[in-house]
Amino acid sequence: MREFKEQRKTYSDGITYIIDPFWLGKCRKCGHEYLSCICTGTCPKCGNDNIEYTLGGRSLEEIIAERRPDLIRDNQSKSE
Ligand SMILES: [Zn+2]
Repeated sequence: MREFKEQRKTYSDGITYIIDPFWLGKCRKCGHEYLSCICTGTCPKCGNDNIEYTLGGRSLEEIIAERRPDLIRDNQSKSE
């Protein structure tokens, strides 16, 4: 049980497990590509926050849908 929890420990973004490889971030503005250990943040080159992240060839949206469906549900139902 403890080991399982350890594997599911996430970085500050709440999505990336500590055992995950790096994300590949691609800036949608300047096209700069870089590696990041979390899937939030801004382009280190131009500061734009519109970044396309992939992890092992899978999109950020896919990863969120699989790991944190609560995040999606929260966004849709939050009205207060
Ligand atoms: Zn950029």
